[in-house]
Amino acid sequence: MSATISVNGRITGERDAVISVFDHGFLYGEGIYETMRTYQSRPFLYERHMRRMRRSAELISLELPFSDDELAARIRETTDAATLPDEAYIRVLVTRGIGELTYDPHATPTPSVVIIVKPHVDPPRSAYEHGVAVVIVDVVRNHPGTVNPMIKSNNLLNCALAAQEAIRRGGFEGVMRNYLGELTECTTSNLFIVKDGVAVTPPLAAGLLPGITREFLFEIGSEIGIAVRERTLKDADLFGADEAFLTSTTREAIPIVTVNDRRIGSGTPGPVTAKLLAAFRRAAEEARV
Ligand code: PMP
Repeated sequence: MSATISVNGRITGERDAVISVFDHGFLYGEGIYETMRTYQSRPFLYERHMRRMRRSAELISLELPFSDDELAARIRETTDAATLPDEAYIRVLVTRGIGELTYDPHATPTPSVVIIVKPHVDPPRSAYEHGVAVVIVDVVRNHPGTVNPMIKSNNLLNCALAAQEAIRRGGFEGVMRNYLGELTECTTSNLFIVKDGVAVTPPLAAGLLPGITREFLFEIGSEIGIAVRERTLKDADLFGADEAFLTSTTREAIPIVTVNDRRIGSGTPGPVTAKLLAAFRRAAEEARV
């Protein structure tokens, strides 16, 4: 891994990128982040990522100390300083900042801003060609009244524990249920099923991160004549689906072919997933923003 990092505007390699142990991001997990990637060297869907970042910040009463344009300039400085053979992975983190050992936000008047840039690495080709195996995990997605999954929070213990379970059980991803037993999303991606030609994903009200790829897929679907809808999904909907796939910024759309070792549909990547992925890639390559 060779990353280039901006810590409050100071750009260094990864060894010299340091942050105080009194930063409340470290002490309490108080902060929010975004993960973006570039296509044609431009951050894709930047405005949407910024919109979500502002909503995340608002939900933890954190004032972002930059405009969208100012942050874009800082990202550019960091990508310019990086050695990128191809496209960039960009992670922007904003924490409450450095202060005394108290939850009182008055103790931390200045947020810390970290930008991590490294080469984007595509998931293995085999994931797209053959699909992946996922498992439904026992770890329950945070209740929206606790740490709302809408917040793209640096406090990732809920997803980390679910991912640990998925890894232990040999899953490429773990599908998480909410406290009502409804499906929500995976630990680092959103979940879709395809039934009778319609792509269906759980509603935001189930308690999940509003993925940018998920959101964009509704528009891609309508452009190519594939209906994309929100509906409450249970285990049986996933097991009985014709196709399933997961979406995220760094993975686009990856077909799911088994869940808990049970085959989904024909057990091979499905045609609706393939059409949505191809249309998504076309839009990304055109670098629509
Ligand atoms: N859900 C979770 C929990 C995630 O961490 C991610 C990855 N950021 C996603 C969904 C996918 O979101 P996006 O399409 O914005 O990358």
